Amino acid sequence: MKPIDLRSDTVTRPTPEMRAAMMAALVGDDVFEDDPTVQELEAKVAALFGKEAALFVASGTMGNQVCLRTHGHHGDELICDDEAHIDWYEVGAAAALSGLQLRPVPAPGGIPDPERIAAAIRPPNIHHPVTSIITVENTHNRAGGVVVPLEIMRLVAALGLEHGIRTHLDGARIWNAWAATGIPLPEWARGYDSVSVCFSKGLGAPVGSAIMGTRDFITRARRTRKMFGGGMRQVGILAAACIWAIDHQLPKMAEDHRRARHLAEGISDIPGLRLIPDPPPTNIIVIDLSERSVSTEQVLDNLKDRGVLLTPFGVGRIRAVTHRDVDDEDIESAVSALRDVLGKR
Ligand SMILES: *Cc1c(COP(=O)(O)O)cnc(C)c1O
Repeated sequence: MKPIDLRSDTVTRPTPEMRAAMMAALVGDDVFEDDPTVQELEAKVAALFGKEAALFVASGTMGNQVCLRTHGHHGDELICDDEAHIDWYEVGAAAALSGLQLRPVPAPGGIPDPERIAAAIRPPNIHHPVTSIITVENTHNRAGGVVVPLEIMRLVAALGLEHGIRTHLDGARIWNAWAATGIPLPEWARGYDSVSVCFSKGLGAPVGSAIMGTRDFITRARRTRKMFGGGMRQVGILAAACIWAIDHQLPKMAEDHRRARHLAEGISDIPGLRLIPDPPPTNIIVIDLSERSVSTEQVLDNLKDRGVLLTPFGVGRIRAVTHRDVDDEDIESAVSALRDVLGKR
């Protein structure tokens, strides 16, 4: 039996229609900038977000890191939040590839605090590193798919402008912020010098991310991408999947959120179980079991035996993520499995 795979929204398989679009893609050599399908995707994404230009990259990590390397210099400092993907899940790349020092600032509940960020900006002083980049993650993964409110996004962008610091939006799941609020994509991107977005999360493409910014920024980022080994050739075959995902999957994204709420409701009365936050704002459900004397590994193993896959998510926590490849029936089964495994103290 096929497991109900809630480990991540990256586990989706390309649909037959998506595969057909990939098969039919016109391609060229994208390092020579003559792959028409890549160009179509880049133009489409830039227009969707109201930015001048976009660049197709292999992954969200590559997107973030190409932006950081293009904005900053070795020895500069980057302000991010202390639960950020850039801090936790990118293998130290900002330090390793760009020589950037990370200055993680607490962002309770995944919401950055503009006052704390302002306080972390280094004043000019011969002893200090130069603060050259501020990053914001939206929606916020480790905080449980939280949408960073637009007012906060604006305040952080304004800080960057005021201090001459570049701002970067890690928008791997910014689509989910749109789907949850109805606030148009360009509003989320406004004021940010660069934005990265993923096609391989909720949009369900097999591979791919894009970064956006001014035409000049993207021209420079294209060189950085090449330096990082990300210059790809007949890559329209992948871009076609991303175009298909934007056209067909983006409009359905709110379904994932509805299913996440449904899953959360189904387990919310289990004693000693806490959802972070409750209810889940988008497609990520973080289940805190620290009040229970259970091992999360044991819980995950028991769920696996019942055909339901979740991931460990820090001390006492496990995570479920809804996506295109789980339907209402799968959610019902996942609720039953969780109730079986966790129902009794
Ligand atoms: C998934 C993700 C990324 C990029 O991850 P890749 O696996 O490299 O594509 C970046 N930021 C956030 C917030 C993410 O969730």
